[in-house]
Amino acid sequence: MLHCDEDDLSVISLGEPATTADEAHLRDCARCRTRLEQLTAVVASARALTDSDHPVAPPPAVWTAIAAELARDERATVTPITSARRSGRSRLWLVAAAAAAVGVLAGGTIAGGLLGDRDVPELVAQAELAPVDDSGYSGQATIERGSSGNVLNVSVPDLPLVADGYYEVWMATADTSTMVAIGTLNPGHTGSFALPDGMDVNAFPVVDVSVEHFDGNAEHSVTSVVRGQLPV
Ligand SMILES: [Zn+2]
Repeated sequence: MLHCDEDDLSVISLGEPATTADEAHLRDCARCRTRLEQLTAVVASARALTDSDHPVAPPPAVWTAIAAELARDERATVTPITSARRSGRSRLWLVAAAAAAVGVLAGGTIAGGLLGDRDVPELVAQAELAPVDDSGYSGQATIERGSSGNVLNVSVPDLPLVADGYYEVWMATADTSTMVAIGTLNPGHTGSFALPDGMDVNAFPVVDVSVEHFDGNAEHSVTSVVRGQLPV
């Protein structure tokens, strides 16, 4: 399978729309979805910075590294993210710079310049996720609307590791006849998933977390651990 270009995933994580081809691939490829989620999480962390997060000035080495990267990529520019796709070469450094910003940049001005205005997401809906078949686990789901669309956050504390599998988050119609795979939930982490533009969350109010196996079967395994319904 030909996977999405890493640069394209970086640009998508920064808020640009995916190409039709990438969009189609991401619908079918858990590996690329997971990579996009990782990049999106880095960007979200950088965007969540506040001034109090920056007690120290950046070490000169950070600037040297970024400047060197820029010098190698003459067509890249620092501020206009919207033209990143047209710049033609590696944009992964944008996300790398954002990651560096989480740790070391002072004042948030550089992160702000790279990533645009800080996005204060609006809580759209939330639901308790109840145990399914006495799984013993429960959690929460929220949908937030930010400048780059809707984000589903799913938290199920105390989920154990699955020996030969993983957890998948789904959104489903009220009668669960149609289910959409949203992404992988790793135990011990809150999953944050960018929902596809154009997905009507009112039509998919059920949030479900299932146990899946590495069997190449993209269908729901029918083994769920938690489920809840958003009041949307
Ligand atoms: Zn892929």
